[in-house]
Order: sequence, then structure tokens, then C-alpha cells
Amino acid sequence: MNHDESRALYDRALSVMPGGVNSSVRATQPYPFFIERGDGAHVVDADGNRYLDYVLGYGPLLYGHDMPEPVRAAVQSHASEGPMYGAPTEVEVKHAEFVSRHVPSVEMIRFVNSGTEATVSAVRLARAYTGRDKIVIMQGGYHGAQESTLVEGEPGDVHPSTRGIPESFAEHTIPVPFNDFEAVRDVFETHGDDIAAVLTEPILGNKGIVMPVDGYLEHLRNLTEDHDALLVFDEVITGFRVGGLQCAQGKFGITPDVTTFGKIIGGGFPVGAIGGKSEIIEQFTPSGNVFQSGTFSGHPVTIAAGYEYLKYAAENDVYDHVNRLGEKLRRGITDIVEDQAPNYTVVGTDSMFKTVFTREGPADLDGCCPAGCKQRESCPRYDYCPKNGADVAKADTERWKRIFWQEMKEQGVFLTVNQFESQFVSYAHTDEDIEETLEAYKEAL
Ligand SMILES: *Cc1c(COP(=O)(O)O)cnc(C)c1O
Repeated sequence: MNHDESRALYDRALSVMPGGVNSSVRATQPYPFFIERGDGAHVVDADGNRYLDYVLGYGPLLYGHDMPEPVRAAVQSHASEGPMYGAPTEVEVKHAEFVSRHVPSVEMIRFVNSGTEATVSAVRLARAYTGRDKIVIMQGGYHGAQESTLVEGEPGDVHPSTRGIPESFAEHTIPVPFNDFEAVRDVFETHGDDIAAVLTEPILGNKGIVMPVDGYLEHLRNLTEDHDALLVFDEVITGFRVGGLQCAQGKFGITPDVTTFGKIIGGGFPVGAIGGKSEIIEQFTPSGNVFQSGTFSGHPVTIAAGYEYLKYAAENDVYDHVNRLGEKLRRGITDIVEDQAPNYTVVGTDSMFKTVFTREGPADLDGCCPAGCKQRESCPRYDYCPKNGADVAKADTERWKRIFWQEMKEQGVFLTVNQFESQFVSYAHTDEDIEETLEAYKEAL
């Protein structure tokens, strides 16, 4: 593959943008390929190379790169008729009605402009609603670039995970390991009266893909209820991806008090949202006194795209298709791994997938989960498959980044560059695409 154009563009980019990019994960080694356009399930780079795309914008592109016709029509008409006003529009009402009809926890919703903005606002809301300051999060969870959750450490020894955040901010955040029943119970025993909320992804989607073990989300639901704290699900990645239109909360049958959204809910345009019980969401200004506002919030082009996106999914076999192909891909990779790298763990559910390069596995693979780790206690791999962020971090992340990712790219398959971020299947992917991808895995693993 020739990458001359991309290299030249990166050379220019490095002079005018820090690291040459606008989001850190994009700076691949030795230089990223610059994308010229998308085409269905593929992207084409500045040198004309075509890649089968499983990054899909890091999650929003449920349909791949071609908008379904009603989405395209709505985007074009809203873009040419405005594009925005600073006054309400009908399509915001329609989208809010649609989401509250389908997502169990949502009675009311506030649209914002990014997942980060959604989780920032949700934390402020939970603190105001409960009159408490502390929030409990999961180690290895991700809630965007926000000061309250960019922390690392153990309960009692928590520090900001980046420069630029005062130590005093981290004092209010308590990170615990995902899937550890006792750790979170202990935290509630010590700090129960000061905890505003547990904020977690229902599935860790930014650190491998880690499914909750049986009963864990229920445990969080019970603990928060017992201590009058809120349960906040960050469904920015799982929302309208896992569990279809009811989201992961519907799939698992656990209803949080507040849910944050992003990615798919804006149909490929910048978006975030905070939904939940009316009594809580109404605390936002102007109905309540928790300040929340934004010039671009509820942007008509974004909201029209998001609404038509979800409406199209409700009226077509979208989730059947992406989930079937996701299953086929995880099943195929599981078979290849069994032959070529039996220590590795295939993870994911619905249309999410990843292979974690775990360093150890069981001697006998008979009876292992056939299509992605389900955290089944009876699975021979159960003791070896990642249960939390730290387990994923112990995997062979360097091999993924430096060898495997490069090799897949050379074969024309675009995966997420690090071991941690999830990959996705879109409605544009076909059975043939999956078969071609499995051939590439066979070569690269
Ligand atoms: C992507 C993501 C965010 C951040 O969303 P942005 O739109 O990038 O700010 C927050 N939480 C989760 C779970 C995410 O996957």
C-alpha cells in the first residue's frame, strides 16, 4: 500500500495541530492514514486505499457511511433551511418522544453536544438532586474528557489521571473494580451517606469489552437504592447498539435513574443526551435550578439525523442484521483463536466485538463461550477472561498495537488502534465482508 499522501498531510498537520490530530486515539504509528471518504462499510484514504471499516467513527455509524435515504433527506433539508436557530424545533420533540417511548429509564431527556457534556451534566444533576458530592465509578470505565472521572487509583488513594486537574477534584470520586461485589459494598459502607451516584457503563466498552457477571448490575441497583444514591448508566456507546432500541438497560432488565447517551443517538453528528425520571431531569434549568445550557444543544441537523436513524431501525431489520453478523464474526474469530492463539479471549455482544490478547487460558477449551465471553461461571475460561479494566490492561497490548493492528491494516481491515476500544459491525457490512475479515484474522493472529 502506498501512503505518500497521508504522510505528506500528517507532516503539515503536525505543524498546526497538537500531535497532528483532534482526538488523541487517531495518532497511529508511524502516521495515521487520512480519510478521504466513506463508502458503505468501507473508508477510502487520501492515497486511494480501501479499508473495511470496523471503527465506524468509534461507534456512531450504525449504518456505516451511507445514510439511509430518509436520514439523508432530513439532514439535507434541515441543513439548507437553517441550519440552527437558538429556538426550539418540532424535530426535538419527536426525537425526545421516540427515546422516551423506547428506553425504559427515560421519561424526559435533555439533548447536548457530546457524550462528555452528557456525563458532566449527569454528575452535576446527581450531586444537586441528592445534595451529596461523591461519585463512584469503575476503574477502566470511560465517561469522556471530564474532570470528575479522569482519575486513577483505589478508594482512599485517588488522583487525577491527567495533568491539569486539581488533586481536590479527585477527592470526590471513588473508583472501584468492575464486577467486584465486595469493593463497591465496602465503599457504600464507609461513604454511603456522601455518595450521590454510581456512574458506570453497563458493559465496559472502552476497556476491552467487559460484560457484567451475573447479578452485578442488580447489585449496583440494590446498593444505590438502599443508600438513596442514584444509579447512572453511561450508555453513550451501548445506547441503541446493545439491546436494540431499549438499549443495554433493557437487555439486562436493570433500570437506572439516569442514562447518558451520545454516539448513535445523533446519527453521525455531534451529540449527547441525559435522560431519566421526570422528577430528576426536571431539576435542570429552566424548570429547575441545576444550570444546563448550550448554543448548539438540540441542533436541528443532528436531531433530525438521530431521529431518522432510530426510526429507520424501528422499521427495518437493522438490529437483526448487525447482531447476526456480529455473532458470525465473534464465532469465526473464536475458532481461529482456538487454533492459533488459545490464550486470547474473544469478547463482545450484539454488534460489538474485540479480541483481548490475554496471556493465559485454560488447558482445555471444550465448552468455552462460542461467540464472545458471556461471563458464564461454567465456562472453562471463566477464571482467565477479563472481569475489569485492570485485567484487560494486563493483556499483550503492545502486540495488538505494533504487530496485529498494522498487519490487519495492510490487509485492508481498519480496526481500533489500541487493545482497549471496541469495534463494531454496521448495517452496511455483508456476509462476504465478514468472511474476508476472518481470512485476514487467520493471517494476522
Ligand atoms: C465515547 C464515550 C464518551 C464520550 O463521548 P464524546 O462524545 O467523545 O465526548 C463517554 N462515555 C462513553 C461510555 C463513551 O463510549
